[in-house]
Amino acid sequence: MSATDKSPDVLVIGGGIIGCTTAYRLAQAGLAVTIVERGVCGREASWAGAGIIYPGSELRTDFVAQLRRAAIARFPDFVAELRERTGIDPQFVRCGSLDIITDDNQDAAADREVAAAVDHKTNTGEPFIERLTPRQAREHEPNLTPKIRGAVLMRETAQVRNPRLMAALRAACAQAGVKLLEQTAVLDLLVDGARVGGVQTARGPIAAGKVVLAAGAWSSSIDRRLAGLIEVFPVRGQIVLLEMLPRVFTHFILHGRSYLASRLDGKIIVGSTEEPEAGFDKSNTVAGVARLLRVAERFMPRLKDATLLRTWAGLRPGTPDSKPYLGPVPGLEGLIAATGHYRSGLTLAPITADLITQYITQGKTDIDLEPFRPGRPQNQSAKR
Ligand SMILES: Cc1cc2nc3c(=O)[nH]c(=O)nc-3n(C[C@H](O)[C@H](O)[C@H](O)COP(=O)(O)OP(=O)(O)OC[C@H]3O[C@@H](n4cnc5c(N)ncnc54)[C@H](O)[C@@H]3O)c2cc1C
Repeated sequence: MSATDKSPDVLVIGGGIIGCTTAYRLAQAGLAVTIVERGVCGREASWAGAGIIYPGSELRTDFVAQLRRAAIARFPDFVAELRERTGIDPQFVRCGSLDIITDDNQDAAADREVAAAVDHKTNTGEPFIERLTPRQAREHEPNLTPKIRGAVLMRETAQVRNPRLMAALRAACAQAGVKLLEQTAVLDLLVDGARVGGVQTARGPIAAGKVVLAAGAWSSSIDRRLAGLIEVFPVRGQIVLLEMLPRVFTHFILHGRSYLASRLDGKIIVGSTEEPEAGFDKSNTVAGVARLLRVAERFMPRLKDATLLRTWAGLRPGTPDSKPYLGPVPGLEGLIAATGHYRSGLTLAPITADLITQYITQGKTDIDLEPFRPGRPQNQSAKR
């Protein structure tokens, strides 16, 4: 598409998982949609992520937890739909997770977690969450270190190969008629009075009926008028990729904010650091990589002999209160935010796309977007 083609009904800024999933759903609803992507679609945070679709704590009742539950419920159908339409398999697998307990606090939290989920069962009638002794944990994962107090098993945790998911989404967008303008940076919003009528790009202006802001960690820098409304900042996450065959473990292994994920191909993702201080720098550091390698060896001692394949880093779109911005941007009519998904953007993409599509096509949404309103008062709350 050239910048002079007919105006789309909706222009989406950013071709990450949030922008592509939203564009796909909007096109399925019958709208003419264009994605404008500075580089190549799906090569930023949505490529770098570990691909874990994690239900999160049952104890949490906040708005993000509600959003996450709705997202988890629709994820299997979402990937099945993409696989059927495109022939690309995003390799969605319910691997389950073991949340490792090593101290008194985690011990107490595990009891509360299990009590909160006592009535929840999986589709096959098994407990949603189960407390395991060290011996039981090692029955599930024989290569797990014995130096633990136990673990919490979450059966619903799943994983997906996010680069494959992005490839499937890209193909699904093309099939649905989404126009994709890559290597084209948005420089500014086109604002007439209080109304956003399109964007200024490096290739010229593009008019649009509505604009969806989905530029990930870069969302705040799209236009100076977003100051105080959209406060997204980068939070670097480093990852180490190991290989050991045959597979050493299958569950997602979690301890605090560190984790090990075993892919179907025998490669192991060890993640992740959390470094807002790094700004937009996507380097790997000696300290970051060393910390991740210590985590790997501590919980899976056999991994000391694994091959270190590569390292990378990505920029999560953080927000001061760790909640995404979803919905209309006050004072900028026609601009809708879908950004700031921080650690959970892969998980939250299908629900985000459905809500933004509902808002644009019906003016109302199944889930109240008020808690995610751009321009809300921001207090630095606990992280997700
Ligand atoms: C190390 C790491 C591990 C993670 N693990 C998980 C996980 O296991 N599970 C999970 O659910 N989430 C995970 N996440 C979080 C998840 O990856 C992100 O929340 C999600 O990818 C954000 O998607 P996005 O589309 O908003 O951003 P991005 O994928 O960053 O996409 C934004 C796009 O906007 C484009 N853009 C920026 N500026 C402009 C401009 N001016 N003009 C045009 N285009 C522009 C960029 O080029 C980019 O392609 C992880 C993230 C990291 C970094």
